[in-house]
Amino acid sequence: MPRDFDEIYPTNDKYKQFDYRNNAFGRAARAGKAGYSDPEKKAERIRKKIPGFSLVDYAFSGGALTVAQASHSGRGNQNSGFYSWSPLGVSIFPDGVDKWSGSPKEASRMVRKSGKYYGATEIGFTKLDKRWVFSNGSDGKPIVFENVEAPYVTDEKSVIPESCKYVIAITVPMEVEEMMYAPAAMNPVSSMGYSRMPAVAGSLAEFIRGLGYNAVPCGNDTASSIPIAIQAGLGHVGRHGRLITWEDGPMVRIAKIFTDLPLEQSPIADEGIIQFCEDCEKCSKLCPSQSIPYGPRTYEGYSEANNDGAFKWYCNADTCLAYWRDIGSGCSICFRVCNFTKEKGPSHDIVKWFIKNMPFLNKFFVWSDELLGYGSMKDPKKYWEQPLKSD
Ligand code: SF4
Ligand code: SF4
Repeated sequence: MPRDFDEIYPTNDKYKQFDYRNNAFGRAARAGKAGYSDPEKKAERIRKKIPGFSLVDYAFSGGALTVAQASHSGRGNQNSGFYSWSPLGVSIFPDGVDKWSGSPKEASRMVRKSGKYYGATEIGFTKLDKRWVFSNGSDGKPIVFENVEAPYVTDEKSVIPESCKYVIAITVPMEVEEMMYAPAAMNPVSSMGYSRMPAVAGSLAEFIRGLGYNAVPCGNDTASSIPIAIQAGLGHVGRHGRLITWEDGPMVRIAKIFTDLPLEQSPIADEGIIQFCEDCEKCSKLCPSQSIPYGPRTYEGYSEANNDGAFKWYCNADTCLAYWRDIGSGCSICFRVCNFTKEKGPSHDIVKWFIKNMPFLNKFFVWSDELLGYGSMKDPKKYWEQPLKSD
């Protein structure tokens, strides 16, 4: 009998909705610390000819962020760009027709098919759990639910209709090949993921609006993506604090959409990922800032950048971000080295079968992964000499 979400991820009475202003970026900004992509330091690294930090490398990862930034969607700019809470006027619901009607099962199939066509890796559905909605957005306004027809924002608050009782969790792909160059500045993988998120979530939101329903698309904003993705059956959270899916490991980014289109609850993903992380501390050992914990899951984080009260592994977001500042780039070593970060293939499918069904062999797979050298950093000087996988 599969366990439900609260059995696997209990919360205690310390848990409260997260204030988004308290994330590591917000805390660093309040403390007057420079961002990790300081232009002066970037120029200095280029002049010093540090491998992986050349003009070409920086331009490559900068280009990957274009859709996110130039569309004003960012990594999750609440109610902005393709994450607009109002219709973008692309897929227009016509006057004089009834809104689409059908069963939650039919709606789920349709939304999943459309989302995957727009570029999602996977799509899952869950009932809204308000624990994961941020108490306040990055602009400081409270995020509240009211009995209203459509979402709206005033100077005082951001309002989502109470009728939006369903959440669509969306994963978009990140490439294993390019991730192997982390933590060089040339690694475009996260940025490309951030560009894919609003493209897919914005398109899917317009599809739902075209059927006559509300859609509130989000990136990293508005609510915590990982518990929503877990409740929507997409995976489980690993020791490094990232979502791990059975198909793609941690190599996904997550967007989500709140909607009043009734959808069918997805079943929770097979267990085995947390049990594997209990036997593996590879990311803890290899994290350069020692921000990933050893030992069992707890209810307590390191600072207000974490949100105490949920049973999980807490990554120290402040020390992680400080390391990014030191190297002048997002790090992502924990993505690179994770045992679940693998190109697809039958041998890895067999290992996953063992992880799900024979967890007493986990330590053997941890040992063999290390022996075979998976997750080692590739030489960024050689990236531009390699053919693309598809060539
Ligand atoms: S991104 Fe780098 S510094 Fe941050 S937790 Fe992962 S490995 Fe550690
Ligand atoms: S490296 Fe190991 S412990 Fe860390 S998240 Fe991946 S599987 Fe879990």
